[in-house]
Amino acid sequence: MGTLIKGKPVADEIKEKLKSEVKDLNGKGIIPKLAIIRVGDDPGDMAYERGAIKTMASINIETDVRVLTKNITQNDFIDELNNINNDKSIHGILVLRPLPEQLDENVIKNVIAPEKDVDCFSPVNVAKVFEGDETGFPPCTPSAVMEILRYYDIPLKGKNTVVIGRSMIVGKPAAMLLLKEHATVTICHSRTKDLPLVASGAELLVVGIGRAKMVNSNYVKDGAIVIDVGINVDEDGKLCGDVDTDDCIEKVSMITPVPRGVGSVTTSVLAKHVVKACKMQVGL
Ligand code: NDP
Repeated sequence: MGTLIKGKPVADEIKEKLKSEVKDLNGKGIIPKLAIIRVGDDPGDMAYERGAIKTMASINIETDVRVLTKNITQNDFIDELNNINNDKSIHGILVLRPLPEQLDENVIKNVIAPEKDVDCFSPVNVAKVFEGDETGFPPCTPSAVMEILRYYDIPLKGKNTVVIGRSMIVGKPAAMLLLKEHATVTICHSRTKDLPLVASGAELLVVGIGRAKMVNSNYVKDGAIVIDVGINVDEDGKLCGDVDTDDCIEKVSMITPVPRGVGSVTTSVLAKHVVKACKMQVGL
C-alpha cells in the first residue's frame, strides 16, 4: 500500500521560511508586493486569486488585484501592464490566463517585465527554465512538483522518469526542471504509442493531461512514485486528478492526492517567487 504524500506540509515549510525572509525585508523598510491582473470574472481565476491573496497575506506580502473588463482592448491592456511594470512598489506580476481572444498572448508575453514575471509568461523566463538559469522564474505548478519531491526526499539523479503532458505551463517545464536534477526524462503526449507501456517503465511518473482519472494501475510500475498535477471534476462533481488514485494506491510507493496535493503548494511557490523578485529588484 502506497503513501499519500500531501502538499500542506510542503506549503507550510515554504511559508515559514518566507515569513522570516519577509520580516527581514520589512526591517529594511521593504514590503514585497504582487499585482494580479484578472480580465473578467472567470470562477476558476477568481478561486485561484482568493487562494493567492490568502497565502500572500499569511506571509505579509501585499497584493494589488487589477480587475479589467472582459472586452478590454489590447492597447488598453498593454498600457495597464506597462503601468505595473514601471511601478517600483510592485515586485511580482501574475497575469491570470488564458486571456480573452482579443488579447494576443504572443504579443503580451513580450511586454511583461521579465524580472517581475513570477509565473513564467515571458519568453525570457521560459528560456531560463530551458537553460537551467536559476535567476528566472519557472511556472509555479512544475516548481510545486519539484518542492514536493525535495520535501519528501525523493532522489532524482538517474531516476527513470516519465512526464505525461507537454504544455508550456506543466509538462515541458516539469521535464526541464527534472532534467536539471539529473533525472532521465521521457516526455509523453496524446500521440505517444502505447502510453501504458511507456509510463509503466517509470520509477517516477508525473502526470499533467487534464483527463479525469485516466491514468490507472496499468500505467504504473510496482513501487513507482506518482505526482498527479491534474485538476478535474469527476462524474459526481467532485475534484479529482488525472490519476485514478484508488486504483493505483496498492501498486505505488508514494502518490500525491487530488485535492490536497500539488495544487496546495502552487501559491506558496508564487509567494517564494515574489520574495525572490523583490530581493533581486532591491539588490539583496
Ligand atoms: P493542456 O491541455 O495545455 O495540456 C495537456 C497535455 O496533455 C497535452 O500535452 C496533451 O498532449 C496531453 N494529453 C491530453 N490527453 C492525453 C492523452 N489521452 N494521452 C496522453 N497525453 C494527453 O493542459 P495543462 O498542461 O494546462 O494542464 C494539465 C492538467 O494540469 C489539467 O488537469 C489542469 O487542470 C492541471 N493543472 C493543475 C495546476 C495545479 O496548480 N495543480 C495548474 C495548471 C494545470 P498534446 O500536446 O499531444 O495535445
